[in-house]
Amino acid sequence: MIPVTKTFFPPLEEYQQRLQRVWNNQWLTNRGELVKELEQKLKKQLEVTNITLTTNGTLPIQIALNVLAKKGEVITTPFSYVATTSAIVWEHCTPVFVDIHPEYLTIDETKIEAAITDKTTAILATHVFGNPCEVEAIKKIAKRHNLKVIYDAAHCFGVRYKGKSLFEYGDVSTCSFHATKIFHTGEGGAMFSKDNELNHKLFYSHNFGHNGPESFYGVGINAKMSELQAAMGLTVLPKMNKIFDDRKRVVDYYNENLDFSHFQKLKIREETTWNYSYYPVIFKNEEELLKAQKLLNEENIFPRRYFYPSLNKLEYVEKSVMKNSEQIANTILCLPLYYKLQDSAIERITNLINNFKE
Ligand SMILES: *Cc1c(COP(=O)(O)O)cnc(C)c1O
Repeated sequence: MIPVTKTFFPPLEEYQQRLQRVWNNQWLTNRGELVKELEQKLKKQLEVTNITLTTNGTLPIQIALNVLAKKGEVITTPFSYVATTSAIVWEHCTPVFVDIHPEYLTIDETKIEAAITDKTTAILATHVFGNPCEVEAIKKIAKRHNLKVIYDAAHCFGVRYKGKSLFEYGDVSTCSFHATKIFHTGEGGAMFSKDNELNHKLFYSHNFGHNGPESFYGVGINAKMSELQAAMGLTVLPKMNKIFDDRKRVVDYYNENLDFSHFQKLKIREETTWNYSYYPVIFKNEEELLKAQKLLNEENIFPRRYFYPSLNKLEYVEKSVMKNSEQIANTILCLPLYYKLQDSAIERITNLINNFKE
């Protein structure tokens, strides 16, 4: 079976060595030595100003919304994983969708201003598949209307844009270290903010608001990463260059050998150092997608419809029409892409999909 992605498992002995440290310390959570070490290593490697590790990639979105969006209207993208929208609703904010760019697949910044009302408090946009939003235009709009900017950067581990980490853009950026993501800690995530004061607020919020055992810096929740998660992160992190290189091999093969007269590929924004996180292809219509998907499934190959449906179609949001997002959601298929996906498998997938009409 060839799935869309496969979790990277580091050598067990290497994980065990880190677990040995946890046992030696007799310390499982609440910012132990391994969480702190992983934070320091990531901060240095990613070149970010601040980082707080979290237990998954959804809680940092919720914390950022809780701190910055204040139950207001949040302008957001309909083309993302469901967590982007559900976090808004969960935090008692109202999602206001703005359609996406048909090639970059990120929020169409030229349509944001028309959606702003006096209740708008924030913009929550996704750098979908690691492709940066038009961050500079969004920054200007936010400044003009006094809005906060949060980026769901769940897909963006290692992505750089215009010479710096993509996590450095926006008031807050969040990442997911879920087992299916490019860098993982099993479950896990992080939040990033260049603003030291805001970072301080986010940090306290992820630990019940604790400021020492008996005093509190506002209200908070529990989003702490455990030592066991950090042990996995410290074991996977040294392998990342190898992982990026190997995924590039797969992406290069698809780029060179897929027949792009049948489908369109993701357009990566210029000045981006991408991370080879996903390989989406966009069919001309849903019928063709379903035909290609069926053909692959019959060969035990399971691409995934990331992201389907378009989030404006969720039953718990107010109805709206998002033409581009709905069109893309209906016609996009992510092809298998993971570390050590065999050359023979990539060839087979490419041949099948190039000839799906026959
Ligand atoms: C994976 C993902 C999340 C959620 O991250 P978890 O770590 O699974 O909580 C949020 N947004 C996007 C775009 C994602 O792909």
